[in-house]
Amino acid sequence: MFVDKATIEIKAGKGGNGAVAFHREKYVASGGPDGGDGGRGGDVVLVPDPNMSTLMDFRYKRKYAAQNGADGTGKRCSGRDGEDLIIKVPVGTVVRDKATGAVMADMTGLDRFVAAKGGKGGWGNSHFATPTRQAPRFAKAGLPGVEREITLELKLLADVGLVGFPNVGKSTLLSVVSAARPKIANYHFTTLFPNLGVVYVDEGRSFVMADIPGIIEGASEGAGLGHDFLRHIDRCRLLVHVVDVSGCEGRDPIEDFKAINAELKEYSEALASRPMIVAGNKCDVASEEDIERFEAYIKELGLPFFRISAAAHQGVRELVNAVSDSLSTLPPITVFEPDFVEPEVDLGSDEPNIEQDGNYWTIDGGWVDTLVQSTNFGDYESRMHFDRIMRTRGLFDKLEELGVNEGDTVNVCGLEFEYKR
Ligand code: GDP
Ligand code: MG
Repeated sequence: MFVDKATIEIKAGKGGNGAVAFHREKYVASGGPDGGDGGRGGDVVLVPDPNMSTLMDFRYKRKYAAQNGADGTGKRCSGRDGEDLIIKVPVGTVVRDKATGAVMADMTGLDRFVAAKGGKGGWGNSHFATPTRQAPRFAKAGLPGVEREITLELKLLADVGLVGFPNVGKSTLLSVVSAARPKIANYHFTTLFPNLGVVYVDEGRSFVMADIPGIIEGASEGAGLGHDFLRHIDRCRLLVHVVDVSGCEGRDPIEDFKAINAELKEYSEALASRPMIVAGNKCDVASEEDIERFEAYIKELGLPFFRISAAAHQGVRELVNAVSDSLSTLPPITVFEPDFVEPEVDLGSDEPNIEQDGNYWTIDGGWVDTLVQSTNFGDYESRMHFDRIMRTRGLFDKLEELGVNEGDTVNVCGLEFEYKR
């Protein structure tokens, strides 16, 4: 079965909790706090696998969770980190956040993608000793891992997409120019899933061609097989529009051509404006008059036109050469740019405690805890974010009100800073 779209639920691991423990030693009256930190929760990581060609696996398994981090213990022992969960996906998979529809990653050209980040482990009480609080009886809980629904969409990696009404000879053309063996028959929708073929032009020149199920007028409203398969030619650099010029099914080639273009446009402006080469097929059974009428119409539009007979192998070489020449001037296959923004961690609204001891201030609890734990202090952007939130949430104003002085030490959840306005 060919499955090219799937929605799955992913859940990264929760961070382990920090430990409350005190150093114990014979003949030592009271040891200091030595509770270790919780381990990091495992990430959910997507990895492209060239051997996978469908998203079928995701039809049967929809929930994926990475391991939680272990809790910290005494003697400053950190808990073990949770193991990452690796999910293999086909190479052309585009990953979207289901809630917003935003593109998170295009697995084309990526080695791995962290789709859900594990929670940080909580700090053990050894972090929280201050001059006034030498035996802290608390530690922090680990943060939850990111949880979200993602949509996986397979978009094949083809240079050229064949478009046209059903039964015009698209599959026949692919079978003639490549080693692909798509199903060919004289009825509509014989091609129920996309086929890819590598077309060898000559020494060192080749391209990949995709044959997708025929689209028909009204596909945008769900007629026929709908628009779904057009997704596979989203990346294509060039379209070959195959038209049956013999009108052997009692249809008018010009009307056919217009109808398909209208459908492309309905699906995506970007796809409809892709460079196009028109192949008038079934010339072996078409009248010269019919071919000329259609050819004149296409040339009027300024598009390259080729007379072919896929079944009789006529004109096919010329078409392939023109496609290859055209590709050499076109930009590479489309890779989708991510436009997803990781939502901010919810800090909650519980206010932190502020304690003063001379020029030493201790702040912890409430939203400050969550903020500190979700901040990566090794990263500039992240530190700036931390600073901004502390300011906008009025913490600095509060300190000013309480009489903080420039140069005082402020201990925020175990991290010491020098106060600067
Ligand atoms: P698709 O639906 O566009 O993929 O069309 P197919 O490739 O399955 O072909 C539909 C029918 O048209 C089949 O019976 C083919 O044998 C026939 N056909 C394809 N190309 C030609 C051609 O150049 N000349 C003639 N006479 N028949 C063709
Ligand atoms: Mg076909």
